[in-house]
Amino acid sequence: MKELTQPDLKVFYDAVTERMIRYAKIETTSDPLKGSYPTSVKQYELAMILYDELGKIGIPARHLDDKNYVVYAWIPSNTERNSESLGLIAHMDTAPDASGKDVKPWVLKGYGGGDIVLNKEKDIVMKSSDYPVLNRYLGQDLILTDGTTLLGGDDKASIASIMTLAEYLLENPDIPHGQISIAFTPDEEVGGLARDLDIDLFGSDTAYTLDGDHLGYYFDETFNASEAVIRIKGRSVHTGTAKGIMINAVDIASDLMKSLPEEEKPQYTEGTDGFYHLISCNASCEEAEIRLIIRDFDRDSFKAREEFIGSIVHDLRTRYGDFIEYEIIPQYSNMKEVVSKYPYLTERLKNAIEDAGIDPVSEPFRGGTDGSALSFRGLPCPNLSAGYENAHGRFEFVSIQSMVKNVEILLHLIDRFVH
Ligand SMILES: [Zn+2]
Repeated sequence: MKELTQPDLKVFYDAVTERMIRYAKIETTSDPLKGSYPTSVKQYELAMILYDELGKIGIPARHLDDKNYVVYAWIPSNTERNSESLGLIAHMDTAPDASGKDVKPWVLKGYGGGDIVLNKEKDIVMKSSDYPVLNRYLGQDLILTDGTTLLGGDDKASIASIMTLAEYLLENPDIPHGQISIAFTPDEEVGGLARDLDIDLFGSDTAYTLDGDHLGYYFDETFNASEAVIRIKGRSVHTGTAKGIMINAVDIASDLMKSLPEEEKPQYTEGTDGFYHLISCNASCEEAEIRLIIRDFDRDSFKAREEFIGSIVHDLRTRYGDFIEYEIIPQYSNMKEVVSKYPYLTERLKNAIEDAGIDPVSEPFRGGTDGSALSFRGLPCPNLSAGYENAHGRFEFVSIQSMVKNVEILLHLIDRFVH
């Protein structure tokens, strides 16, 4: 690959900074309660801005799906050499966990360690003792919030890096590359799973999502995931005359919850451990509904977990009667099953991170990504970290140097798709 010069890096630095700040100011919070996709009209504003900007930087082909709020861009191959198509995907929405309205990003140059005052007036301080991750960023330039909103570096830092990469490629047509497809999608934070990304239109055989914290982290493995819903019909009568008649759904719900193995809950698990997690229980004597999620990396033990829930329900039915029902709602699957058939995808990503002078770190991701669903829809899709920190909260920040490094990593990745 062509050596990057100091002026190139300065261009990247200025471009990702300007973009990150501009995108952060656009409110794009997704809505977990909407029930249909896209979940918020707000995201469309950023989609339009990105679509226009892609035109301005000279992208030869682009498309805005104004029904589903997906932005597409294509840079055709410019080389006679053998190359494979490569997709890059990032999400436009921000998490509903914290406000994304009136975000006021600011830059702290050369972080010198210690606490950071985010908001003098409101006395909001990011303490280095609470956020030891700050120690990774000594001497770097950080984009921060005013302590009242999230930043939205998740995932706008990735959008800033991808846009800057695209701009650089168009300004430097002598850099050989295969066909590159880019997509910006809505609703990642609320389980959208890139459902409305048109894979045929996207036109790439493989892709990477860019998302996640810590520069240089990547993964090709996620949980298998489903949700179990158990409904219990009780029989409520006056407590004074209840003997032999009353069936208290609260008692049965409580029995069910106690049947879950204590040590297999999120608070006791890590690494490649799976778990059961109770997310809600609404119960009265008359009826109860319990919702829990099931997670496991291994397909067989995931199936065994789902069956275990079935067996608990079966036992309760034997003891109490047939008025207990349950259903298992599939959510997403471990992308490894698909991605492992394309070992070069992970290998090239790892190499590209190394090429950029960063130590690659990979660990199975204890969650799911849009790539978990896309992989099973036919677009194998590992993930490269965006490099933001403290996502989904008011102490979120992103290092400008990390975003620049991600542009470099992407350039090396593109290079590895040309032979
Ligand atoms: Zn994200």
